[in-house]
Amino acid sequence: MSFADRVVAWQKVRGRNDLPWQNTRDPYRVWLSEIMLQQTQVVTVKAYFARFLEHFADVQSLAGGSLDEVLGLWSGLGYYSRARNMHQCAKVVVQEHGGRFPQDAQTLATLPGIGRSTASAISSLCFGERVAILDANVKRVVTRTQGFDADLAVSSHEKLLWELATGLLPAIGTTARDMARYTQGMMDLGATVCVPKKPRCLECPVSTDCVAHRNQDPDRYPVRSRTVKRSSQRIFLLLAQTPDGGVWLSRRPAPGVWAGLYCPPLFDSDEAMCSALTAQQRMRLVPSEAFKHVLTHKDLHLHPRHLEASEDDDFGDQGRWVSAAEWPGLGLPAPVRKLLEANAL
Ligand code: SF4
Repeated sequence: MSFADRVVAWQKVRGRNDLPWQNTRDPYRVWLSEIMLQQTQVVTVKAYFARFLEHFADVQSLAGGSLDEVLGLWSGLGYYSRARNMHQCAKVVVQEHGGRFPQDAQTLATLPGIGRSTASAISSLCFGERVAILDANVKRVVTRTQGFDADLAVSSHEKLLWELATGLLPAIGTTARDMARYTQGMMDLGATVCVPKKPRCLECPVSTDCVAHRNQDPDRYPVRSRTVKRSSQRIFLLLAQTPDGGVWLSRRPAPGVWAGLYCPPLFDSDEAMCSALTAQQRMRLVPSEAFKHVLTHKDLHLHPRHLEASEDDDFGDQGRWVSAAEWPGLGLPAPVRKLLEANAL
């Protein structure tokens, strides 16, 4: 049996076959799940996926929705550029492709927010195209089985890995069903068996031709030398609220932290915040405890300041008063939502 045949056979009996975005060839659903699953755990995605579909059942309704609605539904999933790109992508599919997703990976990869691996996942799962995927989980399977120890921070090495992954595909002429099963099998292997720490090699269908298993050094793979430098930033948040639960919010500009989301006025320091307020307002400021919020490449040290205000107050920043009924539905950064919920009437 070839490598691919073993992955296909294993997927049938041991793979994941009951996730909410499986057992469909609808590219809208597969695309939605693929984007949500980037950097987010399956268990978290399940709830968001269901809620998103309830609101936007197809690509036409998503394209016709507002960015605010999309960001509101995405709120809490993080990495909001995914949501912005998704909304943009839906519009392009409707306006330039007649509301139907292209069926080949090459064309799919020209759409906003769809990279090569996501494009291949959609085209192989939905249309049976014979193309390789290479997301983080599959990279682990391929580098380990092939003993590929070149540094993936170097783009020519990454290109080589794509060639190796393509060489492992099922034979030309494989049915669309088996091609989809192979793609799903590679994802499942990386997610459930060939996990980063302590891979379950004894349960693995490709252990007999796995170099890392033979050498007992799976932890060596994949090799990536460049580590992203973390930075940190202090942010002072002015949480101005009216007695009936209204909040002063404005949409954050792009680029920058929380671009496109709704936020209270943000400042670099207490001094900067105070100089934007009247003497009367300053006297009503109530500080609460600072806390850390971790983003991918950055630690945010957040310093909330509460202010009981009236609707006559204006805090600039191109903001407005948003009622207690409206703000929960907006796209808000997770820590801002928590602060507002803690202080809600
Ligand atoms: S044998 Fe082990 S290291 Fe190799 S692919 Fe399977 S789980 Fe991963």
